[in-house]
Amino acid sequence: MIYLDYAATSPLRAEAREAMLPFLDGRFGNPSGLYAIGRDAQAAVDGARQTVAECLGARPAEILFTSGGTESINTATLGIAYAMSRAGAGNHIITTAVEHHAGLHVAQQLEELGFEVTTLGCDGSGRVSVDEFRRALRPGTVLASVMLANNEVGTVQPIAEIAAVLRDFANEAGHRVALHTDAVQAPAWLEIDVQALGVDALSLSAHKFGGPKGSGVLYLKRATPFRPLLHGGGQEMQKRAGTENVAGIAGTAAALAVASSGIAERSARVRGLRERLRDGILASVPGSQVNGCQTNCVPNNLNISFDGIESDVLVRLLDERGIAVSSGSACSNSTWEPSHVLMAMGVPIRRAVGSIRFSLGEGTTGDEIDEVLAVLPVEVGAARVESSLPVGG
Ligand code: PLP
Repeated sequence: MIYLDYAATSPLRAEAREAMLPFLDGRFGNPSGLYAIGRDAQAAVDGARQTVAECLGARPAEILFTSGGTESINTATLGIAYAMSRAGAGNHIITTAVEHHAGLHVAQQLEELGFEVTTLGCDGSGRVSVDEFRRALRPGTVLASVMLANNEVGTVQPIAEIAAVLRDFANEAGHRVALHTDAVQAPAWLEIDVQALGVDALSLSAHKFGGPKGSGVLYLKRATPFRPLLHGGGQEMQKRAGTENVAGIAGTAAALAVASSGIAERSARVRGLRERLRDGILASVPGSQVNGCQTNCVPNNLNISFDGIESDVLVRLLDERGIAVSSGSACSNSTWEPSHVLMAMGVPIRRAVGSIRFSLGEGTTGDEIDEVLAVLPVEVGAARVESSLPVGG
């Protein structure tokens, strides 16, 4: 199999597996236990917290372990918005049209609960405007949630600039707005330093960087107004109840430690492979076009539209050739469901429904890229026949 869907998930790193195994076996204690095996589990969780904090430039007490990116995003958004509004600070939040569904849908829920939500658009590359962000601020804004790197097109948002706008706003208007970022697609490709980014909350998902599925991280800056989403025992410093996933936490920390080193070399190698794939496709497949920008982005993502195809058809044909890629948009029962990200970028619907996301990873080789390039023109041709959409439309 040639796997080019690393943005969906990635294989478990050997270091993560090693770190997890003892806790799936003899070291099975509950961290709340006061006896030796419980203290051992608690020590493992504490050690993992320390490691993750070091990777992100945070304090250990600012790191919470969760069940993944979705939980972290929901917890941060609901928890901060709710606490701020209860404190009488307001009920307006700002988000963007290109967030992952976790961010989009939690904002919709806040709207149903009576919050006012401003959803910022983006330019043709998927980037939001800092000026537009500034103009959206008003008295009563309590939270902004803007993702760091987009999962469909890889575009990186100007988070540090947005944080600076919020600092100015706090100084001028005396009104604090918390900033959350969904950084799920960033580890292994971008340095993540919460101080440099200037965020109050940041979400990660372990399986995107070689950790286990169902395990995530929420950075929550000290003194950020917050109300827990999950209630129960006092785990995670009273902020996230539930017996800790000790093996998952150990694997998450081990994977993040590896992902956080050698970023420049890793990115340069994978960027080179992406460019080879992109240039090869554009040269050999007429009617192909890149979506998103290729400079201000994570280096492993390549989103391409092929005129005249439905992406699900091409995903299936490539799967039959042993190549795993992802479709940007779905087509079900003859109804097109174009990607909300491509729509926000102003990509015409006919092009959006023919979009494929190739996401490369550490395991990707030059031979694999060449193999995909050899197969693709034929399979795009076959997909065009099956899809019966007008080419060039
Ligand atoms: N945010 C982004 C940008 C993602 O790509 C994903 C996963 O696809 C998530 C959030 C959700 O993460 P998880 O799968 O850990 O719930």
